[in-house]
Amino acid sequence: MGFCSLKRLRSALPIMKNRLVGGMECGGTKFICAVMDDTERIVDQVRFHTTSPEETLRQAITFFRQFVKNDSLEAVGIGSFGPIDNDPTSETFGRILATPKPGWSGVDVVGPLQRALGVRIAFDTDVNAAALGEFRWGASQGLDPSLYLTIGTGIGGGFIKDGKPLAGLVTPEMGHIRIPHDRERDPFPGACRFHGDCLEGLASGAAIQNRFHSDPTLVTDADPFWDLEAFYIALAVSNYVLTLSPKKIILGGGIMKREFLFTKIWEGVRDILNGYVSSRSLLAGIEEYIVPPKLEGRSGVLGAMALVRQNA
Ligand code: ZN
Repeated sequence: MGFCSLKRLRSALPIMKNRLVGGMECGGTKFICAVMDDTERIVDQVRFHTTSPEETLRQAITFFRQFVKNDSLEAVGIGSFGPIDNDPTSETFGRILATPKPGWSGVDVVGPLQRALGVRIAFDTDVNAAALGEFRWGASQGLDPSLYLTIGTGIGGGFIKDGKPLAGLVTPEMGHIRIPHDRERDPFPGACRFHGDCLEGLASGAAIQNRFHSDPTLVTDADPFWDLEAFYIALAVSNYVLTLSPKKIILGGGIMKREFLFTKIWEGVRDILNGYVSSRSLLAGIEEYIVPPKLEGRSGVLGAMALVRQNA
């Protein structure tokens, strides 16, 4: 059978048509777009720098449009840096809200894609998408409920319950909880512009930048500061264990690339909880309980596709 006749055969059999979904992770420094087929195979993927909203969204549209041509792209899921409005009943649905990223406050992300592609769009936070990606294919696969925390420039958490990111009054803002702050041990006043010394104000990449007046990556592994950083993360994690009782906790984001932090956090959580929560996961099994992500920088884009599949 020659190529042409095979092509005719395919077009005569609609059941063989490949249904595709797209995913887009909007990060402060880069965007990742990908397309997945019915068998969960990644058909194509692209990443580019986050520049102006117009240019960046145009690049995304150009990528996805090639899959719309033969009507096989059905929907696109988006996981975006925030804050965002993901309430479909709101007038500003689909927009990025007051972000410190220059030029991006108030930008409509969903509208331009919907108009250009004519497909269904799902929109959520980058951390909710990452949490869902890890739950679907990664380190927390099938473990419900589970928690994904990102500790990068900012701090955020995505909590998966009943297979979906938890949503309530608004999107949970787990990075802004209060943790004990001993000002004798740590006189740093905190860097959150809303709360000063909340978790993000004390332990995020932006806070570290503020403490050291230099890029966090330039702080050496030997610096005693990392004991304090791990202690703050351990305090937060302990609070999430007590309130949410997740079956797995994933710690991602740029700060957690320093793997030695995990050992300090495991010890910190065990000390803080002091045997009160009687689960093997918090004792001998803590190395399997608080873990790094498995999807290596693709949790968000994969999760965005899981999100749109889920909302179908
Ligand atoms: Zn805060």
